Amino acid sequence: MGMLTDQFPGSEIALGIQLKHIATRALANRSTRGYAASDPAWADHLQDALDTAKFRRLKDLYSTHTSRDNIGFGPGADRIKEAFDQVQATVAARGGDARTEDTLLLKARITIRFGTLNHCLFDEANPAGAACLENAIVPASHTGPLDNRCRPDRCHNSMIGPEHLPIYDSHRRTQLKLLDTAGLLVVRRALINRELERTEAVLAQTRLEEQP
Ligand code: SF4
Repeated sequence: MGMLTDQFPGSEIALGIQLKHIATRALANRSTRGYAASDPAWADHLQDALDTAKFRRLKDLYSTHTSRDNIGFGPGADRIKEAFDQVQATVAARGGDARTEDTLLLKARITIRFGTLNHCLFDEANPAGAACLENAIVPASHTGPLDNRCRPDRCHNSMIGPEHLPIYDSHRRTQLKLLDTAGLLVVRRALINRELERTEAVLAQTRLEEQP
């Protein structure tokens, strides 16, 4: 907590108060700074916390799937559903419990990045097919996908969750409204049409699965 608060302006004073160093304010600086000082173990703790939070969300998805609710749409969703089905079948075959489920889910090594516009199933062990990396100049030290070039409309790693649908629906309506603007420049109209096509392509993935 000390190291996190240190990232914000004025935080040393707040941290001192929180840690009860305020009573010895004259001497507080040294001890408060000690708490805020960067620690090599911090990155590991943070990564552990992120992994734990991610696994919790993965378990929520698994539980939604086993309750026969739809966890999402698109090729990424298909892959994750397949992995969940395998876990579920193995648990049933072994007569396993929740602990077995957790172990199998961990072993399944499902790589998922939860996002605002989609979830990404990019697997660093098998990066082929990531639309964001196509024709991209990837910085030397970078690993993983390039989020700012994400293409949920056509990437086989993309999963659209039910929570993403209102965003795409609203975006589609906005683009349609913009197209009605009088006197649009040809270039601007082309850009809006391209955006609309991409949005429609995402929504089409969801409609495909709703068909009987
Ligand atoms: S295009 Fe998007 S979904 Fe596909 S790998 Fe890149 S970030 Fe992930």
